[in-house]
Amino acid sequence: MSARVDRFRCTACGKCCYGALPLTLDDALAHAGRFPLALVWTAVPQGVKSFPLTAKLGITLKPKKRPQIAVLIALTAYIPEVLPCPALSESGLCDIQEMKPLRCRTMPFYPYREEADQADLLKPRQGWLCDTSASAPLVYENKRIVERADFELERAALLTQAQVMQQYADYMLKYSPWIADHLVAQIIKPGGHVITSLSSFLTATKKLDSTDIAGRQLPVLLSFAERTAALPELADYHRNYLGWGKEMSYLAGRACAE
Ligand code: SF4
Ligand code: SF4
Repeated sequence: MSARVDRFRCTACGKCCYGALPLTLDDALAHAGRFPLALVWTAVPQGVKSFPLTAKLGITLKPKKRPQIAVLIALTAYIPEVLPCPALSESGLCDIQEMKPLRCRTMPFYPYREEADQADLLKPRQGWLCDTSASAPLVYENKRIVERADFELERAALLTQAQVMQQYADYMLKYSPWIADHLVAQIIKPGGHVITSLSSFLTATKKLDSTDIAGRQLPVLLSFAERTAALPELADYHRNYLGWGKEMSYLAGRACAE
């Protein structure tokens, strides 16, 4: 059987710059004045390919009378699928090319998955204008990424921050036990995520400068609240942006702007 070979070139069409964007901790903090941030919890059942890596990057839980589950907790630019990244210019190019997050540099690869399990990510989604023709560069061969520096940087950052995420999970599961029930429900009926606020992360992770981060998040959240105000299908996002804005206002020590 011939080895699998895949080619890919980004044509900078900007079509993948919509919706949620998982970030490393360093990228999330660096871009707190740009992206509306939240934590997205995704449960993975025992037995699936991504279970061991998810357990390493996140946590494991053993619900009563159920098999163990692994949970990834990703700091995320919490943007609805229909809205563009705030750094996407009208021309479709990235406004922050030189300082864009590792997640964008590693595209189309995804270090939250094993390296050997990346092949399907090279197939552009509907509407994406990625070049996968024979003239595009070879990027994935024998289940190995050819130009791997960004992938390794992003993976290393995720591994380095794993302990912080585990401590956060301990804090949240202690004070918000409903989270464990919702994660089990995700396994029973796949789809949906548990979303928790950046303020809970800043409260649990005492080493960060929450006043500075909250001060940068507040205008971002208020701007996204405004952008989603007239869109009934985004009512949940709107409610979250408003609620988190109040929390950030409190953390930043400012009067709540409504
Ligand atoms: S930061 Fe740039 S590359 Fe990344 S999603 Fe936003 S516009 Fe796209
Ligand atoms: S959809 Fe493909 S071609 Fe367009 S910006 Fe994203 S990676 Fe590049």
